[in-house]
Amino acid sequence: MNAVAAPNVLTRWAIQAAHCTARPQIESMEHARYVMSAHAGHGGCPQYLGALAYGSAAL
Ligand SMILES: [Zn+2]
Repeated sequence: MNAVAAPNVLTRWAIQAAHCTARPQIESMEHARYVMSAHAGHGGCPQYLGALAYGSAAL
């Protein structure tokens, strides 16, 4: 399996996504997917909605 993010990047993402009320600074589509999966069951917390907005932006 090919990892989309290096272990140190995953560790940073995990730390940044630890608190639901923090507004995420999404850096890539892979990061957006990571945050959305981590916060999927939280009923639309700011982390989830921030990641969703990144992935939903009209380009
Ligand atoms: Zn959450």
